[in-house]
Amino acid sequence: MTCLECNTSLSYIDHKRSMDFFGVELCQQHQKRMEKLIEKNNTPPEAIQLYYGLKDAGINPMMEWWDGKKSVDLAISRVKLNIEIDTEYHMITHEQAINDLEEAMHSFKNGFTTIRIPHVLVKYYLKETVNNILGIVEGLRENIKAI
Ligand SMILES: [Zn+2]
Repeated sequence: MTCLECNTSLSYIDHKRSMDFFGVELCQQHQKRMEKLIEKNNTPPEAIQLYYGLKDAGINPMMEWWDGKKSVDLAISRVKLNIEIDTEYHMITHEQAINDLEEAMHSFKNGFTTIRIPHVLVKYYLKETVNNILGIVEGLRENIKAI
């Protein structure tokens, strides 16, 4: 049981608290940092789990990246990929849907690709989700080379 950021060993209580709140192992100091980020941006815990899942797979995403208009849950800047975690996709309204589509249009125009991932995928299929994102990153990298 060690912190994913700094490798500090965690006490049972720290470990439990971190798993309950974030679903990943973090020391007290890094839990505090994460809490601030969540408070400021309303970051879903699945974004944190996916962040560390991607890091573990050798990708370095940025959390709560500011794209000039809004904060993006996760961004992989090298291939201009934005990842948003959808927490309420099952009750999406038509207004929300058209807003999402417009946002996607704007980000495509700026050379960014945005994918939206339902939070349950991160919760139940983290490995598969990470593998698919790796494939998307690979595809985007190939496309960048081709230009
Ligand atoms: Zn730490």
